[in-house]
Amino acid sequence: MPGYDNVKDPLIKFHKVNKTYDGKTFVVIDLCLEIYRGEFLALLGASGSGKSTILGMLAGFEHPSSGSITLGGKSLEDTPTHKRKFGMVFQNYSLFPHMSVMENIIFPLRMQGMSRADAYKLGQSALELVDLRDPGMGKRRPDQLSGGQQQRIALARALVFEPLVILFDEPLGALDKRLREQMQLELRQLHKRLGVTMIFVTHDQSEALTMADRVAVFDKGRIQQIASPMQLYDEPETAFVASFVGENNKFEAKVVRSQGEICEVALCDGTKAEGVSPSRLLPGAGAVLVVRPERIVVSPTDDCSNRYEARIKEVIELGDQTRLRLDIAGDNEVLVKVPRISGEPGYQIGQELVVGWKAKDCRILGMEQ
Ligand code: ADP
Ligand code: MG
Repeated sequence: MPGYDNVKDPLIKFHKVNKTYDGKTFVVIDLCLEIYRGEFLALLGASGSGKSTILGMLAGFEHPSSGSITLGGKSLEDTPTHKRKFGMVFQNYSLFPHMSVMENIIFPLRMQGMSRADAYKLGQSALELVDLRDPGMGKRRPDQLSGGQQQRIALARALVFEPLVILFDEPLGALDKRLREQMQLELRQLHKRLGVTMIFVTHDQSEALTMADRVAVFDKGRIQQIASPMQLYDEPETAFVASFVGENNKFEAKVVRSQGEICEVALCDGTKAEGVSPSRLLPGAGAVLVVRPERIVVSPTDDCSNRYEARIKEVIELGDQTRLRLDIAGDNEVLVKVPRISGEPGYQIGQELVVGWKAKDCRILGMEQ
């Protein structure tokens, strides 16, 4: 199956989609989103940010208040849910309790009028795809299975009719951590193997970053940024994304001047700093400087243009790293992660240090609206 890396073929397009349930509050705002054929796209956002509403509009459970959704260039407006032929997997499995596992899996095929014998063969292959090879499995009932097994059945039911697209709404939310992480890797492998377009809703950033080719980060019904996991981590475009994805230190700042992509700012105690700005900020504008804890270096070399005297407030020794909480540049809550090297003397509370980071390792972002 072709991967999505070489071909960026927009399969689904949301164009200026808005959604309100009560005619007053908009829960999806001006959504423009292209989903490529064969990609694994995660929709990531806190509870209430509009993710399920977006998935529901794609599935046909909900209708946009305005704007359009197209599949392969054709409007989906008049296509009812069952004719959209998307596979769907939800957190609560939604299996039929009175049917056997196999009957559950082949249900979509039987609805399409396929004979029991043909459907059974495809059902058997779907069971193998989700790694349920136990010969008696098909005859069991959902209540005789663990949560993880039930979710595999729901996945098999979504795969069985070889859909063009599979929609997932927090499907791993009810599973314990270990199982959830195992299923994340399996789903990722299944996606690679089958090449089917997958759209996966989650509020869990590590889940989105582990699994997806691209992640769309939502806040209050709007896309904040859509990018690969690495880009989101290294090049956040808004202060919201910078603090939502991974850990970041934030400093309030005021823009002094911009030159190309480098922006010079003054921090609140007047000290200067410079970093990369994804948008052009005007002198005098309020901004935030964000720098990841692992990008701050103790005793920096000369190529770190941002250098500060600091005092250690707290030391937390973890197996692979030491986390230092520092007082620096008038801000007393700065986290630094340094690798632990065995045999090195440890850090002490109250100890004075010089720390720094390169301009290219920090971002200057506009204030949140
Ligand atoms: P998420 O999946 O990101 O948690 P939702 O799309 O479920 O977000 O919800 C977005 C907003 O829309 C929330 O404020 C929620 O209360 C509201 N909402 C969702 N479904 C309905 C509905 N059927 N009727 C009215 N309000 C709804
Ligand atoms: Mg939801």
